[in-house]
Amino acid sequence: MSIVWGLVSSATQTPVITIPPDLLPEDGRFGSGPSRVRTEAVAALAEAADDFLGTSHRKATVKDMVRRLRSGIAELFCLPDGYEVVLGNGGTTGFWDAAIFNLIEARSQHLSFGAFSSKFATGVAAAPHLQDPVIISSEFGTHPEAVADPTVDAYALTHNETSTGVSMELRRPSTDGLVLVDATSGAGGLRFDPAETDVYYLAPQKCLAADGGLWLACCSPAAVERIEQIAAGDRWIPPFLNLSIALKSSRKDETYNTPALATAFLAVHQVEWINHNGGLEWAASRCDQSADIIYTWAEGRSFTTPFVTDPAMRSHVVATIDFDGVSADEVAGVLRANGVVDVESYRALGRNQLRVALFPAIPPSDIAALCACIDHVVEHL
Ligand SMILES: *Cc1c(COP(=O)(O)O)cnc(C)c1O
Repeated sequence: MSIVWGLVSSATQTPVITIPPDLLPEDGRFGSGPSRVRTEAVAALAEAADDFLGTSHRKATVKDMVRRLRSGIAELFCLPDGYEVVLGNGGTTGFWDAAIFNLIEARSQHLSFGAFSSKFATGVAAAPHLQDPVIISSEFGTHPEAVADPTVDAYALTHNETSTGVSMELRRPSTDGLVLVDATSGAGGLRFDPAETDVYYLAPQKCLAADGGLWLACCSPAAVERIEQIAAGDRWIPPFLNLSIALKSSRKDETYNTPALATAFLAVHQVEWINHNGGLEWAASRCDQSADIIYTWAEGRSFTTPFVTDPAMRSHVVATIDFDGVSADEVAGVLRANGVVDVESYRALGRNQLRVALFPAIPPSDIAALCACIDHVVEHL
């Protein structure tokens, strides 16, 4: 009885459309985070598991993995001399709290243009030990520009606003003040000049095709100096969020407390895969190709348009596509029933939209296949 009811119920919500197997992508995962983990990486983890998982993070096997992660990241981003890769637990959200305690001296400026950039700004505004931040906002689907301001000591930028599919070029707004960049979804897929940043931070569940839980931060000498200077002062800093402790642990290829070993392994696998294939330029070119495929497709259909109207702001790692006259949710529901998952739009944005990750782990051929699948679904709705 309940099975019959279930069938009727799902049929009324998601029309039954079977996508022909030859149209389907190789892999159906298109989520913007957590995002597709390469099957090769999982197989390598399974093969290494008995000597790696369940072993001490204070011993050579795991420390060597952390060392490879730190050096692989430095190579991937061509970090200038003196920049250090620091890591810890808590993902990007954890790192925001660490930034509130260790990187902002008194006042920060924030570019707020989506769910993630606004969340960090809100967190800073609530911190009792900091002055009210300067928040510069823009319409969703665009990004504001940072403005040189002698009253702030840190600028908070976002390389790629994952909720809206907007990316921005990274440039120092001023010679003073640290440039803190949330690069969670851009890092490893978008080009940038590290010398324009002081802290380029990320979590590995997006372009690095690993799992969540860790944060990684590429810190300039000026950022290291700020961390040490604040730690030497009288501000209370919870040890878990203390970046001077994280810095000391990272220099020993360790983390303050137990890290997710599988996450570290998968991230190393992805970073080394990109580096062996030609580094960031190779990965970014692959994302460019995927972006070209999906935006050209969206512009060529009567029922779709790219949400981000300015091509210079259109992300090459997360595409947001508006639908007109067709329910994007219905399309996403049919795709999901066919094993093609996580293309639903960011809920809070409230648009009739699909959002598609174009991260390096997703081959451009799969983006082309996804477009063909959407065409098939729309034709049969
Ligand atoms: C995913 C994401 C975050 C949140 O990362 P967590 O590791 O889940 O805390 C923050 N900022 C951006 C830009 C993101 O894409």
